[in-house]
Amino acid sequence: MKKKYWLGFVMSLLAALFLVACGGKSEKAAETTTEAKKEEVVSGASAKEYTNPKELKDSYDVVVIGSGGAGMSAAIAAKQGGASVAIFEKMPVIGGNTSKSSGGMNASETKFQKEQNIDDTNDLFYEESLKGGKGTNDPELLRYMVDNSAEAIDWLDSIGITLSDISFSGGFSKARIHRPADGSAVGGYLVNGLYNNLVENKIPIFVNADVTEIIEKDGVAAGIKVTVEGKGKTISAKAVVDAAGGFGANMDMITELKSELKGYVTTNHEGATGDGIELAKKLGAATVQLEQIQIHPTVYQEEGKEPFLVSEAIRGEGAILVNAQGKRFYTEMETRDNVSAAINKLPEQYAYVVFDQGLREHSKSIDTYEEKGMTVKAETVEELAKAIDVDAANLKTTVENWNKYVADKNDPEFGRKTGMDRDMSKAPYYAIKVSPGIHHTMGGLKINTNTEVLKEDGSAIPGLYAAGEVTGGVHGNNRMGGNAVADIVIFGRQAGTKAAEFAKK
Ligand code: ADP
Repeated sequence: MKKKYWLGFVMSLLAALFLVACGGKSEKAAETTTEAKKEEVVSGASAKEYTNPKELKDSYDVVVIGSGGAGMSAAIAAKQGGASVAIFEKMPVIGGNTSKSSGGMNASETKFQKEQNIDDTNDLFYEESLKGGKGTNDPELLRYMVDNSAEAIDWLDSIGITLSDISFSGGFSKARIHRPADGSAVGGYLVNGLYNNLVENKIPIFVNADVTEIIEKDGVAAGIKVTVEGKGKTISAKAVVDAAGGFGANMDMITELKSELKGYVTTNHEGATGDGIELAKKLGAATVQLEQIQIHPTVYQEEGKEPFLVSEAIRGEGAILVNAQGKRFYTEMETRDNVSAAINKLPEQYAYVVFDQGLREHSKSIDTYEEKGMTVKAETVEELAKAIDVDAANLKTTVENWNKYVADKNDPEFGRKTGMDRDMSKAPYYAIKVSPGIHHTMGGLKINTNTEVLKEDGSAIPGLYAAGEVTGGVHGNNRMGGNAVADIVIFGRQAGTKAAEFAKK
C-alpha cells in the first residue's frame, strides 16, 4: 500500500518540477499551489498540483462535477471502467466538505472487523441506520450502501487508503466506523489518498472551474458549460457525474426550507451551495427530502472564530458531555438529532466535551483542535472546572462517577452503552465548548441504486449520474455519523462505473 503513496508523491514532485521548468506554465501552477497552501491551514490537506487549464480538451467520455470524496471516487472508477474522464472543481482546492470530515466510514462484515473479532452483520447495520433515520431512508439505497460497504473498504485498501482502526459512532451497537490507523481525521486522509490515485491514473483535475450548466441533447446529458479561471467553455461528454455536494453553506436555501435554522453556524466549506441540485433540476431531475437538514451537536463556535466540528469519534473514544453545572445531562452516544435537541434544551444551550490525556493521545484530530485554540487544558479536573467556569465539586463527582461506570460497563444515570472502553484518569484534562450547528444536507437529487438521476415520474435522465451529498434518500431524516463517507465512496464508485458503461454504449 505504502508503495502507492510514494508513487503518488514522487509523481506530484515530478509534475511540480516539470512545471517549474516550463517558464510561463509554472507561474499559474505556483499560484494555484499557493492557494492550496492557504486552504491547507484550514483543511489540513497537503499541497497539491492541479492540471493547467491549457490542457482542457473539448470532450471526454465522462465529466465529473465536484472533487469531494464522491467525485474523486467516481473519476477513479470511471477510469478503471475504461473511460476518459476529467474532474471540474469550482473552488481553488479539491476536497469540498469531504476534507472536513473527521470521523470515519461505516461498514459491516469487513475484513478488519473480522480480524478484530467484531461480530457485525449487514442486516444490523441496515436496521440501525433505518432506525436512526426514523424509517424514512430510501430502503433500496440504504440496502445497496450497506451490502457494498465491506467491498468498498477493500477497494479503498487496494488503492492505498487503509481504514483499519474501528470505533463506535452514535446510535450504533457495534464498532463499525472505520478510521485511518494513525488516528488522523478521515477527511484529509481520504482526500490525499484519492488525489494520489487521480495523479497515478493521470486523471485531469481542473480547479477554479465552475460548472454553470449540464448540456442536454435529445433528452440525454451530453456535457457541461464551465467557467475556467474566468473563461467560459463548453465540454462535451458521453456521460455526466454530478457530485457537487450539498447546500449547507447556502443560508438562503437553508432558511427557505427550514426557517428555524436562521442564525445557526455551519460546519460546511464555502462551496457547499447546492449548485449540483439546481444544475440537474434544469434537466427535469426530481429531489427528495430537501428539508432534512442535519444539525450536529458538537460544533465549536466562539465569536470571531471559524466554527469547527468536534468529531463524534471523540465521544466514541470515551469523551463525555457536561452542562454549565459540570454535570452530564444526556446519553452522549445517542443519534445526532437527539443529542442536539438535548443541548438546545439546556438553558445555556451549550455544553463541554470533556476528555483526558489518554484519549488525547489516541486521537490525532485533537491536534487540530489544539492548533485552533479550541481546547481548554488543566492539570486536574478541579482546575479544568475553574478554567471553564463550572462547579469544581460537580465536575469532580461527574468524572469519578463516569470512571466507575466505565469500570462496571454500566451507566446507571443515562444508559450509555458504547464509547466506554477508556476511563478518564490521565492528566492533563481537556474541555471544548460546543453547541449545535448546521452540518449535512440529507436531501437532494433522487437517484436509484445505479446512481441514475430520476425525474418525478421515476424515469432516468439518460447519461446523468449523481452521488454523494448532492443526492437524497439514503440517510432519511437523520444521518448517522460515518454514513456520509460510506455514501460518497460507495455511490461515487457506482456513479463512475455506471457512467463509464453508459459512455461505451
Ligand atoms: P461529497 O461529499 O458528496 O463528495 P463534497 O462537498 O466533499 O461532496 O464535494 C463537492 C465538491 O463540489 C466541492 O468541492 C464543491 O466546491 C464542488 N462544487 C460545487 N458546485 C460546483 C460547481 N458548480 N462546479 C464545480 N464544482 C462544484
